[in-house]
Amino acid sequence: MKKLLILGSTGSIGKSTIEIVRSFPDQFEIVGLSVNNNIDELECQIKEFHPKTVVVRDRQKAKELSGRIGSSCKILSGEEGLLEMSREDNYDIFVAAIVGFVGLAPTIEAIKLKKRIALANKETLVVAGEIIISLCEKYGAELIPVDSEHSAIFQCLIGEQKKNVNKIILTASGGPFLNKSFSELDTVTIEEALNHPNWKMGSKITIDSATMMNKGLEVIEAFWLFHLPKEKIDVAIHPQSIIHSMVEFCDGSIKAQLSTPDMKLPILFALTYPDRFVYNSVETNLKKVGNLSFFEPDFDKFVCLKMAYEAINTGGSAPCILNAANEIAVEKFLKGKIKFTQIPVLIQVALNKISNHTIVNLDSVVEADFKTRELLKKMFN
Ligand code: MG
Repeated sequence: MKKLLILGSTGSIGKSTIEIVRSFPDQFEIVGLSVNNNIDELECQIKEFHPKTVVVRDRQKAKELSGRIGSSCKILSGEEGLLEMSREDNYDIFVAAIVGFVGLAPTIEAIKLKKRIALANKETLVVAGEIIISLCEKYGAELIPVDSEHSAIFQCLIGEQKKNVNKIILTASGGPFLNKSFSELDTVTIEEALNHPNWKMGSKITIDSATMMNKGLEVIEAFWLFHLPKEKIDVAIHPQSIIHSMVEFCDGSIKAQLSTPDMKLPILFALTYPDRFVYNSVETNLKKVGNLSFFEPDFDKFVCLKMAYEAINTGGSAPCILNAANEIAVEKFLKGKIKFTQIPVLIQVALNKISNHTIVNLDSVVEADFKTRELLKKMFN
């Protein structure tokens, strides 16, 4: 019986993880859950799974929940609540399904306890890849990617030697605006941007898919996870989203991992690796899919993807600034404050205005993140 801590349990990945726990009640037990403010759904999860601890980031909502459920489990609040729950040494697998920068510090606590980290929060590696990877090595914590592309690459690399890898090829659906011209992007609406053709996901990542910043962040994530130079990380548009990514080896052979797009598969694999469980809920019929196609991404149209590659080149705090500026820009777009095409413009402003520095520790990451958010907030005051 593996004990799970799920950070972000009412988000898209969190709910898929919970579905898996439901499918394997003899294999997994939930000991801790966290949400931002959705206490109605958390209350249902508490009644069903009886966790020992829950965290509600919104303090007012935490109080409200405590009034409703009394002392049936420990209720913590705020970011320090997330840290406290992550420090409780009562779990085996830390599922980082929480969105954004806030996932970083709790993940570090889990690494220090040598836990398996099922990492869906890509921001953690984007902003602090060097710190996270070296801490995992230092403490002997396992980092298993949940992001479907990285899970695919991880699976393709099993039994292989790193020296034999020519390149990895991250596949990208291209999002809802694949066939729109650059000038047409200027007038797209929030609803159009939220309408992803293949994946049902949270709103932040769906917008990131529309700008292709999601793929950019994934390139940075792959850079840290697989210790490869950026020249060996390729992106191919694959509109069907059946091949989740590929690895090309030195003999010219390519391995790929395929399935119907469903996040339950990479989540399950991260929980069961190196084993696999019998699971019948995701069927893939390639005869029905018919065609699989691939082509080059348009870097001039999807500026965010280009900026992510450049951020790897610049190094230091550039990926962290890129990530923070993107989080703010997406938030502003979702609130109708900026146009879709202003997302990369805002990010470029942040990258130009904030001086780059070396990332030495968590404080330097927090500083770069904070400075970026301050700068962009001022622009909207
Ligand atoms: Mg992905």
